[in-house]
Amino acid sequence: HDLRNEDLKDLHELGQGNGGSVKMVEHVPTNTIMAKKIVLIDAKPAVRKQILRELQIMHDCNSQYIISFYGAFISDPNICICMEFMDKGSLDGIYKKIGPIDVDVVGKVALAVLEGLTYLYDVHRIIHRDIKPSNILFNSKGQIKICDFGVSGELINSIADTFVGTSTYMSPERIQGAQYTVKSDVWSLGISLIELALGRFPFSDSASDDSDLSDFENTLSPSRPRGLALRSAEEARAEKEKRDKKKKRKSKGVSLQGGGMTMSILELLQHIVNEPAPRLTPEGRFPKEAEDFVDSCLFKEPDERKTPKELLKHPWVEGSRTSGFDLVAWASTF
Ligand code: ADP
Ligand code: MG
Repeated sequence: HDLRNEDLKDLHELGQGNGGSVKMVEHVPTNTIMAKKIVLIDAKPAVRKQILRELQIMHDCNSQYIISFYGAFISDPNICICMEFMDKGSLDGIYKKIGPIDVDVVGKVALAVLEGLTYLYDVHRIIHRDIKPSNILFNSKGQIKICDFGVSGELINSIADTFVGTSTYMSPERIQGAQYTVKSDVWSLGISLIELALGRFPFSDSASDDSDLSDFENTLSPSRPRGLALRSAEEARAEKEKRDKKKKRKSKGVSLQGGGMTMSILELLQHIVNEPAPRLTPEGRFPKEAEDFVDSCLFKEPDERKTPKELLKHPWVEGSRTSGFDLVAWASTF
């Protein structure tokens, strides 16, 4: 059952990331719909083969919280990774379409991600390294699964440069160059949960004025990368110009994090390291237990932060496990 590119029929594109693109394809011999991720790798053939070998670990990753793996192959100059297709897409796409996600669903997401991370680490000693809403997928069976975890050291090295744009979910200790641990994934989970519950990236807070329509549009525009994913210098300049004009128009002025879209990547990284962690706000809008859970994901000091396994015992997560919330019914609403 070796996968070959010739057996795959392209249906349509599902999305693009920093490393490449993802297409919905049909494996014609077996009539199976798959998601094919195409990663452009600028590496020697030997390195490519090594990556392919390392990816085979994914065959052994069997969990209801992990995207299943059909296989990978080299299609020069790309590496193609074929995985389970999730018909409702990623959670970033969902909130950009329907707005802030119901906190009951966010609780189910927390549970699924913690289960997935615990499985990867306990069974395979794998640390995910890229938890964010676009790597949490959902389907109409009501399943929530994580994808794009760091199985291949070589792959991580080969595309390390292009990953700069996703560093916005990075924990303070990672930004400061410390060793990656499962607790770094917990930080990224905390940021992701706030993003889902609020319907916007937490660091792009324009708390100083809610009435600013253009900022609001910015926040909702589906074409726009969340937060501060890599922006061209031109775009940055254009935005700065716009911001300066706005400043002149209003005497009010804009605080540094007011309209986080205007922060440079460096400013954002400094912000994550130096400022208090974001929280599920405004106070009282969400259940106390949800607020407390997010706070415990976002301890800036990794020693204070719990592991995914420990967090599975948190009351909010236990509550989500036993809650009767119907994800299948929810999936049918969009
Ligand atoms: P990123 O995760 O940074 O958005 P990717 O290249 O990993 O970039 O994925 C691009 C998009 O493709 C994702 O945002 C997601 O919406 C979609 N996608 C990825 N994998 C799948 C899958 N298995 N099933 C359905 N959609 C997927
Ligand atoms: Mg991804």
